Amino acid sequence: MTDFAATKAMFDLPEGMIYLDGNSLGPLPKAAPARVQKTLNDEWGEMLITGWNKAGWMDLPTRLGDRIGKLIGAPQGSVVLGDTLSIKVYQALASALALRPDRRIILSDTGNFPSDLYMAEGLARTLGPDYVLKTVAPEDVAAALDDEIAVLMLTEVDYRTGRLHDMAALTQHAHSVGALTVWDLAHSAGALPVDVTTCKADFAVGCTYKYLNSGPGGPAFIYVAPEHSDTATPALSGWLGHDAPFDFDLTYHPAPGISRMRVGTPAIVQMAALDAALDVWDHADIADVRARSIQLCDMFIERVEATCPQLQLASPRDGTQRGSQVSFRFEHGYPCMQALIARGVIGDFRAPDLMRFGFTPLYIGEDEVIGAARILADILESGAWDRPEFHARSAVT
Ligand SMILES: *Cc1c(COP(=O)(O)O)cnc(C)c1O
Repeated sequence: MTDFAATKAMFDLPEGMIYLDGNSLGPLPKAAPARVQKTLNDEWGEMLITGWNKAGWMDLPTRLGDRIGKLIGAPQGSVVLGDTLSIKVYQALASALALRPDRRIILSDTGNFPSDLYMAEGLARTLGPDYVLKTVAPEDVAAALDDEIAVLMLTEVDYRTGRLHDMAALTQHAHSVGALTVWDLAHSAGALPVDVTTCKADFAVGCTYKYLNSGPGGPAFIYVAPEHSDTATPALSGWLGHDAPFDFDLTYHPAPGISRMRVGTPAIVQMAALDAALDVWDHADIADVRARSIQLCDMFIERVEATCPQLQLASPRDGTQRGSQVSFRFEHGYPCMQALIARGVIGDFRAPDLMRFGFTPLYIGEDEVIGAARILADILESGAWDRPEFHARSAVT
């Protein structure tokens, strides 16, 4: 059984703050500053260029890939870190399309994160006029799968409402019509149990700065199913995905296996922070995290519905059908969220009217749920949300 008091003690959270935005940016793990400092002083400072060999920097993307692999049901040697999630979406999608050369349609849904759709559009434009991105409503995905679809590209957890797709069933359906799948696990990895192997996902990608707490701009990960990893062509064929980068061969030959999904020089300092952040998972069981997250989200829904009649639940009511977040619709959601933030309850706002609250049991418990619901009710009852300063929009919402 995971000791959540112990995991909470592993994070550095500001006194008095109720942090419900770990689904956008996880908090600072206490072990991260020392680990980063060590990388800076003992490795970069002392070893300079020799750190690539001596400090194991060159293998860090695959070593961390194996650690993340354990959280998503991926075998050793099938996950690698690097770049940002948008880049990894492009890479996975390009490789999947190349494995279905007779087909031209990418199927996704309108619940996907815009960057995934933008990357798909950009890739389709690059590949030529025959390639199209088709988007349907999330509930219509299964019906839209036919033998013209090359790749089904979906995000498992809807970033707005937390609605979950059935990854196993949709993957099976996609395969039955001859399509491949690219799953985005941005709001899944570290939030709920994922098993890319049992689900038979072909490609999966995700970021590490949300539920995996690697810090702002932390590297993304990509998984390629072992059956594809020696045949998938990397569209972004950088030198570190080459079979022998230090031969400086003028022709590109992809490395065997997952290493071909590397592109350029890895961000070692940020990866050091991720390495420290992943230590938390040596003390946490993802099944316990999931059970506790459902419990906390249910409790928040119950309290908000009892005290805030102005708000409407936008997330699935059934906890097994949503990720680790709860969203409410409120036409004055933006100023209301600003008022909450001013009172130390940090959630976020997604246009046009969603107030989003992430519940991360590693460092959030019942006290925070009760406190957040109480402050929200107070802000609504007093009308404090309507103060002019809460209406001013910032660049990041
Ligand atoms: C957070 C998120 C992103 C962000 O991509 P970056 O390249 O890391 O900025 C992309 N897709 C999904 C589904 C996300 O949730």
